[in-house]
Amino acid sequence: MIQNLKHLTKCPGCDKTYSHTKALVLDEDSNKTTLHITCDMCKVSTLIFVSSGKTGIVSFGMMTDLSRNEVKKLFKTEAVSVDQVIEIHEFLKEFNGSIKEFL
Ligand SMILES: [Zn+2]
Repeated sequence: MIQNLKHLTKCPGCDKTYSHTKALVLDEDSNKTTLHITCDMCKVSTLIFVSSGKTGIVSFGMMTDLSRNEVKKLFKTEAVSVDQVIEIHEFLKEFNGSIKEFL
């Protein structure tokens, strides 16, 4: 699944797909995955949130200044929970048409 996602997700910095970029899985369960990816091309780091539901897989990316280690810490201390992320996702869905949706 992550392999497919990388091919489908573009870097917000340079618009390249992440096909050859290593992704760090921060959080994963049966229908939600959170990844941290740093672009090989422009070194922009992005948090990718993926959720799968009845309509298919929905993902969105958010540029971040956090390094892998920082973001790991953040997730460990649960300063950011996936549920909060999904709430942000729902919020963005209503106010921002740029979220990529794919099946
Ligand atoms: Zn890039």
